[in-house]
Amino acid sequence: MRIGVLALQGAFEEHIKMLNSLGVETFEIRQLKDLSEIPDGLIIPGGESTVMSKLLDELNIREKILEYADNGMAVFGTCAGLILLCKNTGDPRCKGLGLLDCTAKRNAYGRQLGSFETIGKFDSIGEIPMVFIRAPYISEANKNVTVLSTIDDKIVGVRQNRILATAFHPELTADLSVHKYFIDMIKNR
Ligand code: GLN
Repeated sequence: MRIGVLALQGAFEEHIKMLNSLGVETFEIRQLKDLSEIPDGLIIPGGESTVMSKLLDELNIREKILEYADNGMAVFGTCAGLILLCKNTGDPRCKGLGLLDCTAKRNAYGRQLGSFETIGKFDSIGEIPMVFIRAPYISEANKNVTVLSTIDDKIVGVRQNRILATAFHPELTADLSVHKYFIDMIKNR
């Protein structure tokens, strides 16, 4: 199994470390030619969604991701990655990939709660540590989207077929279970 990690900016190294410790081969995606072959999965990390959206277009990577997703590549987005996956990002500077039939709310927790850690339930996994950094939540999810996790009634984890997204950063904790969940999603296609 090979999983590519979008490495344009933001917190991509931590994802690579987690995947490697789960025995998965990884590679960094910095330009279009890094996507010359379809990988089994793609991770879109946290960072700044408006910047990443712009880079996806400047580097002509956006179309390739959509083509591969259409051909069965699984995608996992965390935080800014979740925003980029949504149909509606709630911000005209950030063009969503539209792979999740959802509306995101950026920087949704206000200044006071810009960053926080909590423990929350995630689907079949149970309780896991969750790190939120100027995080979004999903304000609307279509009924073809499965909600995997909510914190204070706000949706922070979803799945739609082969697309997985979390508003929090599992890669910034020691808990490997969400990455393992993504790998199992790829295996059990
Ligand atoms: N606030 C960022 C955005 O809107 C997301 C922050 C993150 O990825 N940790 O893009």
